[in-house]
Amino acid sequence: MKRTILYAYIALLVAVGLPFLANLGQRDPLAAPDGGGEANPTPSGAVEEAPPPSALPAPEWPGAPETIDVLMKDGSVETMDMQTYLVGVVAAEMPADFHAEALKAQAVAARTYAMYCAACAKHGPAQICTDSGCCQAWQSDGELRDKWGELYHEKLENIRAAVEGTRREYLAVGGWPVFAAFHSSSAGATENSADVWSAVPYLVSVESPETAEDVPNYVSTVRCSPIDLRDAVLSAHPEADFSGAEETWVGALRRDGSGRVSSVTLGGVELDGKEVRALFSLRSTAFELAYDAGGFTFTVTGFGHGVGMSQYGADKMARLGADYTEILAHYYPGTELVK
Ligand SMILES: [Zn+2]
Repeated sequence: MKRTILYAYIALLVAVGLPFLANLGQRDPLAAPDGGGEANPTPSGAVEEAPPPSALPAPEWPGAPETIDVLMKDGSVETMDMQTYLVGVVAAEMPADFHAEALKAQAVAARTYAMYCAACAKHGPAQICTDSGCCQAWQSDGELRDKWGELYHEKLENIRAAVEGTRREYLAVGGWPVFAAFHSSSAGATENSADVWSAVPYLVSVESPETAEDVPNYVSTVRCSPIDLRDAVLSAHPEADFSGAEETWVGALRRDGSGRVSSVTLGGVELDGKEVRALFSLRSTAFELAYDAGGFTFTVTGFGHGVGMSQYGADKMARLGADYTEILAHYYPGTELVK
């Protein structure tokens, strides 16, 4: 009952003054299911860190819950043991052969995120769904057996150890679970939340150590013909002007503080970097755009929105000797690990 009151209180806070939560709840449109050895880029939510309005005294946060009500793919709502649920999340979101400390960092981020979703109450009677395009990816035991085959027991033990080794631990500011966004890989530095969604004090750009030696498809290219580039831009911006020579179609390209593209001018129209990423199915907004006689080439580094913890960066940090508390402190500066 205490938790119900708390969630109602948070819902009230959301209603009266936390508009950025609506944007933070948006998942990465290019989030891919786990597979092919790629960690799953995943934005998504946790609780607003800002202190509540003074007129509303904050109740005590009850700590990490023991269960969570999960909206299943068939529309049913299943109450799961939190640890069991998190095994399915970590297994879906991060390769099971990542370093044990990276898996523990992922377990804490996933638990924190689940607590945030539970507080947001966007799924009615359920607290979170299993849709990687909405909340957080989750795979059932049957799906994991199919995915891992004869390595099932070995890989499951890696995931279980991470979830059990961090039981009830979550990231907080002032005792409140934070918005523990994470993504697959970054291009040297993570992204400022302010450049993607809204400013969040602990989601600021920090260095991330992964390189092409650590990440499959770290640098990718998307080639497109002049006609395809023109039609894609015109589909969203009919006012664009492509009457000039092809080599003049790409204008100013601006970058934000992390080096990602904040905007690029195409056909005389300034497009947001995120829009360009979506239009051309780029793996991130860390890209270069070049023209040659045959067309245009996007050269893209990393995968995901870039905010919060880089999963491949976490794995690299762990392999260089960092433990999960150091990884979390690096990617979510200013947060406290509540145990
Ligand atoms: Zn959802």
